[in-house]
Amino acid sequence: MTRAADETFQDIRDAVRALCAEFPAEYHRKVDEARGYPEDFVAALTKAGWMAALIPEAYGGSGLGLTEASVIMEEINRAGGNSGACHGQMYNMNTLIRHGSEAQRQHYLPKIASGELRLQSMAVTEPTTGTDTTKIKTTAVRRGDRYVINGQKVFISRIQHSDLMILLARTTPLAEVKKKSEGLSIFLVDVKEAMKSGMVIRPILNMVNHETNEVFFDELEIPADNLIGEEGQGFKYILTGLNAERTLIAAECIGDGYWFTDKVTGYAKERVVFGRPIGQNQGVQFPIAEAFIEIEAANLMRYEACRRYDAGLDCGAQANMAKYLAAKASWEAANACIQFHGGFGFACEYDVERKFRETRLYQVAPISTNLILSYVAEHILGLPRSF
Ligand SMILES: Cc1cc2nc3c(=O)[nH]c(=O)nc-3n(C[C@H](O)[C@H](O)[C@H](O)COP(=O)(O)OP(=O)(O)OC[C@H]3O[C@@H](n4cnc5c(N)ncnc54)[C@H](O)[C@@H]3O)c2cc1C
Repeated sequence: MTRAADETFQDIRDAVRALCAEFPAEYHRKVDEARGYPEDFVAALTKAGWMAALIPEAYGGSGLGLTEASVIMEEINRAGGNSGACHGQMYNMNTLIRHGSEAQRQHYLPKIASGELRLQSMAVTEPTTGTDTTKIKTTAVRRGDRYVINGQKVFISRIQHSDLMILLARTTPLAEVKKKSEGLSIFLVDVKEAMKSGMVIRPILNMVNHETNEVFFDELEIPADNLIGEEGQGFKYILTGLNAERTLIAAECIGDGYWFTDKVTGYAKERVVFGRPIGQNQGVQFPIAEAFIEIEAANLMRYEACRRYDAGLDCGAQANMAKYLAAKASWEAANACIQFHGGFGFACEYDVERKFRETRLYQVAPISTNLILSYVAEHILGLPRSF
């Protein structure tokens, strides 16, 4: 079966597939059952240099683009793993590279490239404001050579497996800015230092084995040097990370989609009921074929989002649309896969139920489908603002 994905970046695909083959589905299943973190897997990816793909060569990385990074993430999901354990470093990286100072780049990037430090976490969402990001209530107030942080975040992922976190906070009160997107700033937070005084983490047990947390800030002091870029411009900078995140997650959903269609196709050829393979019935074939068509189409939009991102062009529309299409396609593939596995789809040893849960997340996070539709309606089609 020819797939659009198989015709691109074969060297990267072969190398990532070889690494993933050392961590078969059974490994990921056991991590999921134990609600653990795939530490060995992430360490192997780091050692092989994949987690430093986006870091320029001058700072010890391989200087690849988001396109290649997306192929790495796609292959992990396609092999039965879940990039959610490590994709944070990929989408955070360009925020630091593009908007950080030279001193910050020199200090952090070589250590991240070598695996000494992990930059896996980004803290945007808050419990009382949700998707209405410009209304966030976490504040950062400059006091001499420090910023003092107060507030609360929710669903902050991988912080327990990260040394650094990018934090979005308000530095100028909403009432004092002309545009609501102004007056927000981003900071690098040294997680271990912060946990000694001023930052408390409370894990949120959730449907997916995804390490995510409530984070509380009470008079947390961080060095003023940890501000990324210019004070007050953080919302613009965080969009670099959010567009990368949406594009990478589109690629992960495409990887999931191929995993589901491969899995269900194999099963439907072998499972014999009423004297013939279930895959001989068009009622079984069509939902699988439909999901496959949609995965292939989503893939084209994912590459367009990557191309624009890597060229430094505005890619908000393409990143959102790629994420929408891919998350929808992977979910349809997941539904077909679980349905045609019958009862066995629910048995953990088939991995279908695990991947089904994992891919479902992407209808809601990192941005819900409704908010993408609203973005397209307002920003592309020019319909009146609804909020
Ligand atoms: C496992 C997990 C990991 C996460 N990791 C991170 C992380 O690392 N960092 C981080 O900052 N955040 C993270 N998030 C948060 C995630 O980005 C948010 O949950 C998501 O953006 C939705 O925000 P919300 O939960 O506040 O939903 P809300 O904003 O409360 O919205 C709830 C629902 O209402 C609907 N809705 C809301 N407003 C509108 C509207 N105007 N029109 C139509 N429909 C609307 C949408 O369908 C939406 O799904 C994570 C979430 C999960 C579940």
